Amino acid sequence: MEPAGAPPPGCAPAREAEEPPGSPALPAEEPQGGQSAGAPPGEGAPPPPAAAERERDHHGAGPQQGPSGRAARGGGRRAPGRRGGEEGGCAARRPRVTVDSSKAKTSLEALKISLRQLRWREFPFGRRLPCDIYWHGVSFHDNDIFSGQVNKFPGMTEMVRKITLSRAVRTMQDLFPLEYNFYPRSWILPEEFPLFVAEVRMMKDSDPSWKPTFIVKPDGGCQGDGIYLIKDPSDIRLTGSIQSRPAVVQEYICKPLLVDKLKFDIRLYVLLKSLEPLEIYIAKDGLSRFCTEPYQEPTLKNLHQVFMHLTNYSLNIHSGNFIHSDSVNTGSKRTFSSILCRLSSRGADVKKLWSDIISLVIKTIIALTPELKVYYQSDIPAGKPGPTCFQILGFDILLMKNLKPVLLEVNANPSMRIEHEQELSPGVFENVPSPVDEEVKVAVIRDTLRLVDPHKKKRKDIQCQTLEHVSEASEELLDAGRADRPEYEASRSPEAGLPSLCLKQVFPKYAKQFNYLRLVDRVAALFIRFLGVKGTTKLGPTGFRTFIRNCKLSNSNFSMASVDILYIDITRRWNSMGIDHKESGMCLQAFVEAFFCLAQKKYKSLPLHEQVASLIDFCEYHLAALDEKRLVCGRGIVERRSAVVPCQVDGLHLTPAAHTPLLNRTATASKFADYRNHRY
Ligand code: ADP
Repeated sequence: MEPAGAPPPGCAPAREAEEPPGSPALPAEEPQGGQSAGAPPGEGAPPPPAAAERERDHHGAGPQQGPSGRAARGGGRRAPGRRGGEEGGCAARRPRVTVDSSKAKTSLEALKISLRQLRWREFPFGRRLPCDIYWHGVSFHDNDIFSGQVNKFPGMTEMVRKITLSRAVRTMQDLFPLEYNFYPRSWILPEEFPLFVAEVRMMKDSDPSWKPTFIVKPDGGCQGDGIYLIKDPSDIRLTGSIQSRPAVVQEYICKPLLVDKLKFDIRLYVLLKSLEPLEIYIAKDGLSRFCTEPYQEPTLKNLHQVFMHLTNYSLNIHSGNFIHSDSVNTGSKRTFSSILCRLSSRGADVKKLWSDIISLVIKTIIALTPELKVYYQSDIPAGKPGPTCFQILGFDILLMKNLKPVLLEVNANPSMRIEHEQELSPGVFENVPSPVDEEVKVAVIRDTLRLVDPHKKKRKDIQCQTLEHVSEASEELLDAGRADRPEYEASRSPEAGLPSLCLKQVFPKYAKQFNYLRLVDRVAALFIRFLGVKGTTKLGPTGFRTFIRNCKLSNSNFSMASVDILYIDITRRWNSMGIDHKESGMCLQAFVEAFFCLAQKKYKSLPLHEQVASLIDFCEYHLAALDEKRLVCGRGIVERRSAVVPCQVDGLHLTPAAHTPLLNRTATASKFADYRNHRY
């Protein structure tokens, strides 16, 4: 399954996206301190002198010196003729987006450049008033935030750890083995060690010519830390550390694509703009990180040569062969587009490659979203004040010799550093700019900000409202007028002068081709419905029983006593894996396992994904019917204007106050009708 019309291959020179044709002009200077003429409405009283002073210090218009000591690019130049006049005045009146960068850590430098290019207001030491956007370097929990947007999702760091990612992909592999064959066969240590040994023995028995290599990666490790290659399961270093340091052991891809005889991997930047509805963007360009020793297929002799087998920048930088380059298409770190150009000139089908990569990214995110939604509702329960989230992810992808992309891992906090350390003399280091990093990363951050721009959304809403009042005829006239004067939009848009977006939407754009994979999302929706207490991520035994009862899953063959046994068995096993002892109860993966069990029991002869889909339909049908009953009951109660009339639906006592918000109720009722029409 490939998305049609993939974004143009990155062969278009990456430089295109770098420097705006004429850097954006700065707005006319704002009144300093307190509430400026352009301060966003509702910011409240001007801050006290100390706070005003702090804010004044950091939104000044002059070019700032970055940590590397050079003036940050983009914002330092003033386009001629843009200061005064109508346009400058316009810009000054327009409220600027405010960004708290106090927790940006190593992404600070790239963020600063982006903000200057966008002419947004930065608060490097935080702000007493709420900001529109909070930019965190590490995690969602870096600050207490009750509004605005934050660039991290709760739970993302946990979700992309090696073991959790492997489990999430494995669930999808169970359902859709062919669609998820872009992830190497993996086993989780220590619990699956016996399985690993048994499966390898079986495969070797059935194919004696198979001479595999495996890579062992400690969970939660990064930058190649603790990774080693083995030829046989018995080579795993079991002594002591396995129990204390769980790991993933994975089939090693022995035939990677080589460029200049070197192994390399790709770091692609992916923006998860929203979980519900799912919105995914992919950056048109990424980075290629090269090994520093010519590649040879693994043998017992070269297994330990990390500069030959591991592409990590953090490792290879210590090799004498590492080449820092000012150019994007030479050296040990290059742009991905430069590789694509090269492949294209050799006649490779780079369009197909892009399409496969997009497919891999969408499928991986589909594997991650169910649990992310559980984390999300636990941290930001519906109806409570909280920020909305977005996140830039780093996808590490290896290309096989036949150009098939393989997922290595997903990084929740991909490095956004745009400089590297250089050893001037032994032990003396200096930070020097890295043009390749800057080219790719600044564009990714800047364009992420453009996509989440809260003012743009407001402007869009206002435009929609205004347009509603314009008759069709005058709308046509308006459009015709604009078409005649292309400068109309350009002169008014704050985006004027910025390059086209480097991030391309891939979801919902290709939703039709991938929605059938989102089964576990629907199982997670059932799980969340029965979680009960807000703020939890685990289902208690009562919640599980209510799920079974409300979905009418128990019968003479499957008593409530069997339900309890199923709950206890599965929950105990998952909890013994030592994943999360903070809360007791059934985690989502355990619920998914129980759900698959029930599906297999109920729909015996179908393939697993059809069994699961049928059970989801069955559950959703009964829950919709239940909601409908509640709705009718609620209506009757309202009509009788009775104060409190108990309405018993499957053991639930409802008061006249409707439990489901109106919007949901309507949706539920229509879903119920849809289902009935569909079924009968
Ligand atoms: P880390 O988080 O420590 O960087 P990775 O999973 O990215 O861990 O692995 C480190 C490096 O090892 C990768 O960049 C890649 O070069 C190599 N590698 C990892 N998994 C495989 C694999 N299955 N086959 C071949 N090479 C791999």
